[in-house]
Amino acid sequence: MTVNESLIEDLLKEIAGSDTIPLVIYLRSKINVSEFKIAEKLDINVNQVRNMLYRLGHYNLVSSIRKKDKKKGWYIYYWTFHDNEAKSLVITFKKRKVESLKNLLEEESQMSYFTCPSNHVTMAFEDAMEHNFKCRECGKLLKEEDKKRKLESIRRQIRELEAS
Ligand SMILES: [Zn+2]
Repeated sequence: MTVNESLIEDLLKEIAGSDTIPLVIYLRSKINVSEFKIAEKLDINVNQVRNMLYRLGHYNLVSSIRKKDKKKGWYIYYWTFHDNEAKSLVITFKKRKVESLKNLLEEESQMSYFTCPSNHVTMAFEDAMEHNFKCRECGKLLKEEDKKRKLESIRRQIRELEAS
């Protein structure tokens, strides 16, 4: 099973930089591709290729074997992209995001904020209580902020992530 391309792209943007996307698209579905061939195909120099591969290697998304070039006498590295690693990273990152959104939801649902009707101030409950629920600029009574929309937007993000 392969991972959807757009999920991989999102992951790459997050962990390795969006410049690695064309490289990965080229490398996927191939094995043991010479770094010189990658450079040629992407029309960049081999140092740029190595730099990107290094970033991807940090997350075990690529690995290499080296072979000695018989004519030139030096070693050439041949690279393979690991779809399975990418897949499990996509899942890990999504789980982490869901986790942190759930924490945020928990926090936000416990907090209440109070705002001045003329938008001078917004205060957390304790602060608002200290000020007798009055705006320190104009003295108007503070209103409790409607959290419904904010919470619903967090819930929606969680649902979308879980569905994907
Ligand atoms: Zn005010």
